[in-house]
Amino acid sequence: MESQETVGMTKIAVLGAGTGGAMTANILRRKLDRDEADITVVDKSTKHLYQPSFYLLPFGYLDAEEQARDVTELFDNGIEFVNDEVVGVNPDEKTVELGDGNLDYDYLVVATGHRLDPEATPGLLEGWQETDSVFPFYHYEAAMEMQEALEDFDGGTFVVTQPDTPIKCPGAPLKMTMLADDYLRRKGIREESEVVMTRNADHHFGVQPYREKLYDLWDERDITFEANFSVEEIDPDAQVVHSADGRELEYDFLAPVTPQYGQKAITENSPLADGSEDGEYVTIDQHSLQHTEYDDVFALGDCENAPHSKTAAAARKEAHVVAKNIASLMEDKPMKAEYDGYAACPLLTQKGKAMMAEFDYEDSISAPVESKLNWILDVNVLPSVYWNLWLRGYDPLP
Ligand SMILES: Cc1cc2nc3c(=O)[nH]c(=O)nc-3n(C[C@H](O)[C@H](O)[C@H](O)COP(=O)(O)OP(=O)(O)OC[C@H]3O[C@@H](n4cnc5c(N)ncnc54)[C@H](O)[C@@H]3O)c2cc1C
Repeated sequence: MESQETVGMTKIAVLGAGTGGAMTANILRRKLDRDEADITVVDKSTKHLYQPSFYLLPFGYLDAEEQARDVTELFDNGIEFVNDEVVGVNPDEKTVELGDGNLDYDYLVVATGHRLDPEATPGLLEGWQETDSVFPFYHYEAAMEMQEALEDFDGGTFVVTQPDTPIKCPGAPLKMTMLADDYLRRKGIREESEVVMTRNADHHFGVQPYREKLYDLWDERDITFEANFSVEEIDPDAQVVHSADGRELEYDFLAPVTPQYGQKAITENSPLADGSEDGEYVTIDQHSLQHTEYDDVFALGDCENAPHSKTAAAARKEAHVVAKNIASLMEDKPMKAEYDGYAACPLLTQKGKAMMAEFDYEDSISAPVESKLNWILDVNVLPSVYWNLWLRGYDPLP
């Protein structure tokens, strides 16, 4: 039912209160007058997690409790939060189907992120639930559980695997690998251990010059990269990972990255991802972030098909572009804001050192240099900037 006050208001619906959705909603709220637009954010979860902490929690470098906040804390007055599941979207009718009712919109922002599917790799879920040696650290719970298991680990083969699907933060498995190597050294058990990371590609990291620098570091530290390894199955009883081409990798401790896809509400119950190569990603213009078919629909973050690295750093930049372009359309002005593909990945090479990999659609930006300052920035500074500024729509460098 529309109340008297909402008649004539522009209705903006934001799907997802994760990184991209929360930032976009807060930027829009600060940009638009309260009597001009209603902003509604929908999320099935009431917790917002700081996902870049997930490779730090296992080593005790950040405190687990501080990485989860109640979603309602994130929104300024004037944003309505609906705790419900998005079931589908009908962009012709401008309607979002929720678990409990429908939500109409004039503008839609899709920020539903990646769906983790631990069952897509046979043996992964079983290994996690039934043994003490498999920790899919992309899940908050597994990252927390891993801390105790690492304390008890007294050496052996530590393996990090990656799925064939696209993953968020492609640098995270490398950080997990390097921090594990460093942790085992600090514990004095690296001599009797092996550290291995797999990827179904020729190289462990996509972007130069960071890749070359990482190869040098991994050679020095005797970290093994198993190239073109497509994980077919994990056998948690035998503690072996099988690849599609018949290789077998034995492990004593396994940190697999879970296969990742688009959300079914979008891929199966809306036409928004129909045009993407594998049907998993919302199809948008990579600069304006507007949907390729529906002018009133925008998408950002991990759920869309722009060819950027799927990171919070990318979503942060995209949020400003989406908010500016919606504001322009509301005033019948041309959209001017353009996203340039910026993404950043602080590659934590060991406790106390990191290399900042920053790049856009065209080129690399930062120098491939390890420094203590980069570690301090990533581990000690960015979490509070994230919670207190970026998520709330404040950004000194949008
Ligand atoms: C281990 C790990 C390490 C990372 N490290 C970094 C890093 O160092 N730097 C960096 O920049 N990025 C990093 N990232 C990536 C970063 O967290 C993501 O790229 C970012 O959160 C994407 O934002 P998003 O809004 O697209 O999705 P998310 O933040 O995942 O939010 C999606 C939201 O949509 C909601 N949702 C989904 N489907 C539905 C539905 N059907 N109904 C209702 N709600 C729904 C979810 O509940 C969720 O709240 C890391 C991620 C992981 C897992």
